[in-house]
Amino acid sequence: MDIRYNCSLLQHNTFGMDVSCACFVSYGSAEELAGFFSAGRQFSLPKPFLHIGRGSNLLFTGDFPGTVFHSDIRFVRELPGKDGKVRIEVGAGTAWDDVCGWCAGHGLWGTENLSGIPGETGAAAVQNIGAYGVEFKDIVSGVCCFDAVTCSLKTIRKDDCHYGYRDSVFKQSAKGRYVVTSVILELSPDAGPVLDYGHVRAAVDKRMQEMPETTLSPGLVRSVILDIRNSKLPDPSETGNAGSFFKNPVVPRSSFGRVENYARSKYGPEYVVPHYDAGSGFVKIPAAWLIEQCGWKGYSAGNAGVYAKQPLVLVNLTGKARPEEIIALEKKITASVLDIFGITLIPEVEHI
Ligand SMILES: Cc1cc2nc3c(=O)[nH]c(=O)nc-3n(C[C@H](O)[C@H](O)[C@H](O)COP(=O)(O)OP(=O)(O)OC[C@H]3O[C@@H](n4cnc5c(N)ncnc54)[C@H](O)[C@@H]3O)c2cc1C
Repeated sequence: MDIRYNCSLLQHNTFGMDVSCACFVSYGSAEELAGFFSAGRQFSLPKPFLHIGRGSNLLFTGDFPGTVFHSDIRFVRELPGKDGKVRIEVGAGTAWDDVCGWCAGHGLWGTENLSGIPGETGAAAVQNIGAYGVEFKDIVSGVCCFDAVTCSLKTIRKDDCHYGYRDSVFKQSAKGRYVVTSVILELSPDAGPVLDYGHVRAAVDKRMQEMPETTLSPGLVRSVILDIRNSKLPDPSETGNAGSFFKNPVVPRSSFGRVENYARSKYGPEYVVPHYDAGSGFVKIPAAWLIEQCGWKGYSAGNAGVYAKQPLVLVNLTGKARPEEIIALEKKITASVLDIFGITLIPEVEHI
């Protein structure tokens, strides 16, 4: 175990918050972590405990008074296949996009639409990351964990992970109990592209027309997805951010009526507010649309701002934004959406 005290977290969060923690612990294997806890060595560390990955879904709201754990478990290895599927085990500290690159390089379908999502593999299992019609739950079969309650290593079957939209048991009833140490993915060597989301199919077709010698492959889809993402989202290594800051609100149809009335009075009676049926009389509205209607797109205040190409992303414009500046902007946006539409936005980014 590598234990360091009074550590900067600047390199451990993509928002670029210049905060610190009382203690930072990194480890290189599941056995090392289990041995540390079994020996009771955690009792001497500052509390509370927090396990992070790359910090790409976090907003540190100030210095963290406790111990931050981080996994340096990095590997990708093939396991015996099953039912025509190729199974791989991936260490929790492996950068997620490296896994997507590995799979594409081996001609395996499954991860390509999730290419370019920042962060590490352990967090991908916690978050149930998703993009372009694919979610982590579609390719995972088991999650290997250290159980801090029983001080033992165990594998949790996919069904017991209770995956939902950007949600899992690791974020709900078992939050803080399990540390993900590796994941088991099931991938297919046979063509199985998911292209019917947004403009993916059109972009893939265009690429194949431009390069007639290319065949449809996981590598091709990965490359198209990376291009789409790069054209829309800020690169955290250039502009600090944590991706989508707010969740897309799911509201009753009655609340949606207020949104429609607002939009029709502004754009005319034919205007259709973007929305998706969420079942049981509920509707999901893109938070980006609501925020844009309130005039926030491209807004800046001091060091903090709203990304000009995607208003769902709050950015550390200068690299010097303090947590208070991001939170002040968050509050202003939330208040205006509530005022105009009567909808309360919930942050997607976890505030620490
Ligand atoms: C530019 C940008 C684009 C993004 N696009 C997408 C997208 O398309 N789709 C999407 O789903 N997300 C997206 N995200 C959000 C983010 O990348 C994902 O949520 C990612 O999975 C977070 O990984 P991380 O390693 O940074 O985790 P962190 O942010 O460090 O942690 C996330 C959560 O996981 C927990 N955790 C981390 N590691 C472990 C572990 N080993 N064991 C147990 N708990 C752990 C943490 O405690 C925390 O609760 C984007 C973010 C950015 C900055």
